[in-house]
Amino acid sequence: MGFSHVFGPVPSRRLGLSLGVDLVTPKVCSCDCVYCECGPTTKKTAQRALYADPAKVIEEIDQRLAGSPKLDFVTFSGFGEPTLNLALGEVADWLAKKYPQYRRALLTNATLFGNPALRKECAGIGVVAASVDSVDEKIFRAVNRPHPDICLEEMLEGIRAFSKDYSGRLLVEFFLVPGLNDQPEHLARMKKFFDSLGPCIVEINTLDRPGTFSWVAPASRQALEQAARILGAVPIGSFCQSQGSMAPAALKERILEIISRRPCTVDDLVKISGASPQEIEKLVAELATSGLVTKKTLPRGVFFLAQQGPGPKSPT
Ligand code: SF4
Repeated sequence: MGFSHVFGPVPSRRLGLSLGVDLVTPKVCSCDCVYCECGPTTKKTAQRALYADPAKVIEEIDQRLAGSPKLDFVTFSGFGEPTLNLALGEVADWLAKKYPQYRRALLTNATLFGNPALRKECAGIGVVAASVDSVDEKIFRAVNRPHPDICLEEMLEGIRAFSKDYSGRLLVEFFLVPGLNDQPEHLARMKKFFDSLGPCIVEINTLDRPGTFSWVAPASRQALEQAARILGAVPIGSFCQSQGSMAPAALKERILEIISRRPCTVDDLVKISGASPQEIEKLVAELATSGLVTKKTLPRGVFFLAQQGPGPKSPT
């Protein structure tokens, strides 16, 4: 079976129930962030190209939306950076015309926002969540490890320009990495940048599931809250409400699908599925026995990962 460009629906705190659309294949990105949940970047590029065939993506979306599923959003996200695909605007416009009942969202690292044509493609998307982890060249390179052709100044200017004209909901996410971008002086500079943007909500996040490197630690609750105060940011969590109960076989499938996208604790799976902790524990134990999942212990708890490795990022 080939790579599927459509995944979910995935419940998330920010976007409700969201169908994910992946416009690249694993893992094409302009960055290789130290905290990435999708594993190491295998093709690091700053060049926009057709990393997925838009006709195939459209066909897959059509198949999933034909039955009018209950969804809050269709979200461009997944394994890597969606804006790298030259067809982002084309697919987004097609969605708006054919399925106007579904709101559209984009999760992006914003590294290409210096490009006015790309900003135009994104302008009609109702929610844009852009990640900005540093305004300092050295820290940006240490945290996000971008392609050498990515220019931080152009990226920041591009986000500023976008925020001024954008009429949708702009979320700017800052990922706190202890020891790399958490110095008070750096946070003060970040705050200045966020203040220079047009209307937007600044959110702060930290690692709470296995990332690319085991040395990347989550920030403590206290550090997160302190940074949130400096930045005037909202600390964000992982998952939102449940979707109701399911039969065990279907639930097992669902668990596999969820953890193939992102590692989860039993608690996360309980919140997503609506099943009881006992039910989830029993099913993940069965999946572990059959070799379909593995475990990883982190400060937040024991995470379950699909045996084939990490999956694409999902809306948080
Ligand atoms: S976190 Fe996002 S921007 Fe960073 S490497 Fe992963 S997919 Fe790319």
